[in-house]
Amino acid sequence: MTDNDVIAAFDRMRVWQQGERRAVHKPLLVLFALARVNAGETAMIDWNVAEPHLKDLLEEFGPSGSSKTCHNPFWHLKTDGLWQLQGPSEIISRPASATPTLTELRTLHIQGGFPPELQQALARSPQLVATIGRRIVDAHFPASIRNDVLTGVGLPEEVCEGSSFREKDHRRDPTFREKVLLAYQYRCGICGHDLRLGRQIIGLEAAHIQWFQAKGPDAVPNGIALCSLHHKVFDLGAFTVLPQSFQIVFSQHLVGSDEAAGRMLAFHGAALILPQSRDYFPQPQFLDWHQKWVFKTPARA
Ligand SMILES: [Zn+2]
Repeated sequence: MTDNDVIAAFDRMRVWQQGERRAVHKPLLVLFALARVNAGETAMIDWNVAEPHLKDLLEEFGPSGSSKTCHNPFWHLKTDGLWQLQGPSEIISRPASATPTLTELRTLHIQGGFPPELQQALARSPQLVATIGRRIVDAHFPASIRNDVLTGVGLPEEVCEGSSFREKDHRRDPTFREKVLLAYQYRCGICGHDLRLGRQIIGLEAAHIQWFQAKGPDAVPNGIALCSLHHKVFDLGAFTVLPQSFQIVFSQHLVGSDEAAGRMLAFHGAALILPQSRDYFPQPQFLDWHQKWVFKTPARA
């Protein structure tokens, strides 16, 4: 297989991405397996070895509760032609729809891995592994947390920004950032951060509420101006903003020392610093999406 064949094979992966749903099971399994290739590990991995890693990755980067079905991609990825399974034939020969139970995968030591032709092509080119990893991360995660996902799975961080995989079917509005920052009068909607050095705005970003990767539009009511820190923790699901009241609600999972957590949690229960016009207020549908697909439940009291 040429490098382009391999890239095309991964680009065809079906991820059950239907509109705004976040489907991260298959992408995280593939990223995890790519990192293993990079580390020179064996092609096939026992489910018992993979399970705790996949569970952790879904808890960290998936929607709340998604780790309960962490075994699904291990079985279903083979229908994409990107995976092979080994184990007793009464399991392996089952139709794709007959997903084994967790107990079956564990006790029968079902193994999965890239098929030999993919494995060989990937093993001879760390650059190819990096390219595919980057395309998958670009397609599923916002820029603020892509490097966290890459290091989380064990792949090297990217130093330069690649072009987004989905740009061809979902074009970005280059004025989104400027419109959102103006709407919020150039300050963070959470903490009011508004530092400048001369005319240079420092550490202030336009966050998408419903991710661009999940069909969120480049529209001001789908944006909030956030400082770099609040942008990152918003995309990781440490807090969300309630529709209507615009109240900021933090997750019970965000913890830290008194000082660090205290600075962050000082905003728990406070209201978002709203944009200068009602037309720019965050729309409930986008805030609902964030609460459902990104926020780490349960919320703090
Ligand atoms: Zn802030």
